[in-house]
Amino acid sequence: MTTIGFVGLGIMGSPMAAHLAAAGHTVRGYDRSAPAVEKLVAAGGIAAANTAEAVRGAEVVITMLPADEQVREVGGEVIAEAEPGLLLIDMSTVRPDTATWLAESAHRKGIRVLDAPVSGGQAGAERAALSIMVGGSAADFTAARGLFEVLGATIVHVGPTGSGQVVKAANQLVVGGILGLVSEAIVLLEATGVDPVAGLDVLAGGLAANRVLDLKRAAMIARQFQPGFRIDLHHKDMGIALAAARQAEVALPLTALVAQLVAAARAMGHGGLDHSALLTVVEALSGR
Ligand code: NAD
Repeated sequence: MTTIGFVGLGIMGSPMAAHLAAAGHTVRGYDRSAPAVEKLVAAGGIAAANTAEAVRGAEVVITMLPADEQVREVGGEVIAEAEPGLLLIDMSTVRPDTATWLAESAHRKGIRVLDAPVSGGQAGAERAALSIMVGGSAADFTAARGLFEVLGATIVHVGPTGSGQVVKAANQLVVGGILGLVSEAIVLLEATGVDPVAGLDVLAGGLAANRVLDLKRAAMIARQFQPGFRIDLHHKDMGIALAAARQAEVALPLTALVAQLVAAARAMGHGGLDHSALLTVVEALSGR
């Protein structure tokens, strides 16, 4: 059994930390939101008053924070507090160059780092069925594998430091594109008087089948957009994908277009809604 410090107990981190505690690991959790820490304690974890307290005595520290800024801030605190040999696993979605910065800063102190972002959303975290894409050394991946197996169903070591975040960026541009196209299908069906429920049911059984259709079509048709995965976070992720593309000197024109639609959803005040609220932008473009 492993002593784990867990920082960031939000929509994703809360069920992930609870699964690790339920599996018998000692989980000392910190979040700047006190109710989030109380929830972990109710699930069998231990409260930490700050990041340093979560790190003290831990063999592994997991971070599940919103974005680059928080990962750099909390990552710096972890590195300052940690003893050499600690394994720091950042499971947040951030820029590949943030993952590289974290690993280089940590290695100078003998701390090991994996970037291990996830896909599968809140439902995947709650059902311990996440896809986990891991960047870092093979030895550190092997050491962490048992913990990943508590959290996920598909666990792949995709390459050296930063690779996990590149794969996650690819994941997010595909999900954003599919959300945009499902939105366009709904707008077309409704505008022509075709029942969108029947229409999308057929799509879900053919070549257009995908997980967005499976999981989100009923809520999208009903205009129920409670998160889930917030537009604000997907906006961040489209920025990560475009920054990575720029660095790699490749053109991703469809990603750039979808990024603008996500930016429009934010500008319309929908940043706190689920990313399926991309539908509201597609509707607005047609005056609907
Ligand atoms: P969230 O906002 O619900 O949770 C983040 C938590 O971090 C919050 O509870 C917040 O209080 C805490 N926090 C922020 N700054 C902190 C600090 N300095 N110290 C301590 N705690 C701090 O976000 P989420 O939906 O759980 O997403 C977390 C990460 O996972 C993001 O990078 C997101 O892109 C990624 N992700 C989310 C989903 C999803 O469906 N929600 C799916 C895959 C990946």
